[in-house]
Amino acid sequence: EAKKQGKNCYGFFDPVLQHDINNMMQVEEELRLALSDRQFVLHLQPIFCLQSRALKKCEVLIRWQHPERGLLFPGHFIDIAESTGLIIPLGYWVFRAACDKVVERIQAGLPAVPLTVNVSANQLKERDLVVQFERILQETGAPAALLELEITESLIMEDMDQAVLLLEQCRKLGLKVAIDDFGTGYSSLAQLKKLPVDTLKVDRSFVQDLTLDHDDRQITAAIIAMAHKLDLDVVAEGIETEEQFEILLNYGCDMGQGYLLGRPVPDPFVVLDQATSR
Ligand code: C2E
Ligand code: MG
Ligand code: MG
Ligand code: MG
Repeated sequence: EAKKQGKNCYGFFDPVLQHDINNMMQVEEELRLALSDRQFVLHLQPIFCLQSRALKKCEVLIRWQHPERGLLFPGHFIDIAESTGLIIPLGYWVFRAACDKVVERIQAGLPAVPLTVNVSANQLKERDLVVQFERILQETGAPAALLELEITESLIMEDMDQAVLLLEQCRKLGLKVAIDDFGTGYSSLAQLKKLPVDTLKVDRSFVQDLTLDHDDRQITAAIIAMAHKLDLDVVAEGIETEEQFEILLNYGCDMGQGYLLGRPVPDPFVVLDQATSR
């Protein structure tokens, strides 16, 4: 970009870019502090069976309770956490906090609700990721079967062989594995067949256009049918309307999440536990 603007324009002295670098360094510093200062919180978004509308599991979504800027969503800081390496300790913190939540419910005698945890690119490159997950499971006493790792399709495709190995190790621990944002990563059927996963999450972009776009309906129907042939559970992301819900139900989609059914909140169980005890 700098080249296009002329020989004397070096990217580093571009005031806009410089601002970005300053901002990034500031955010990095703040992220470090936030980790030690316990400023991160987990919100949970319920995932329901479409047919029965029963709660099946919850996705864990990180939020940053920033002392000055308020509640920040992952779009504001996950990339910086990735590029600074802070995603590694942050990722372990999220996994441990999810395990703690699972154990809390068990100890309170409440019905167990599996939690899904997002795992990002640099975490997958960590040598001892599986060993650390195993250690956290042991330390917290959380049953592995109640935790599911969500890994985006595009990430798996970056290094298919490495991903398969890692996912196999995770499943040996008893963890479940989901492919997140499916439909955006261009995996082939042959590759999908090889993947050691339990769940396929249809990307929100397909769900969004279900009522508008005939092609998206066909693709979504095909994804669901194919996933079922491979013995995978299908979750649709980002269901916002009754129409989308109905179409997905008719296509045989197993589960769904989205603003129509429930937004991510600190404690979705407050309502749900009352509903089940009725
Ligand atoms: P994702 O894993 O695909 O998560 C789903 C995102 O869609 C969440 O955004 C959720 O709030 C949003 N969503 C759910 N239902 C609807 C809906 O009906 N309409 C719309 N428009 N959006 C909906 P969020 O919480 O901002 O998270 C964004 C991304 O950040 C996640 O995408 C995930 O990739 C990443 N992320 C979140 N938490 C973590 C984490 O703990 N670790 C890592 N590595 N990444 C995380
Ligand atoms: Mg996810
Ligand atoms: Mg997703
Ligand atoms: Mg998505």
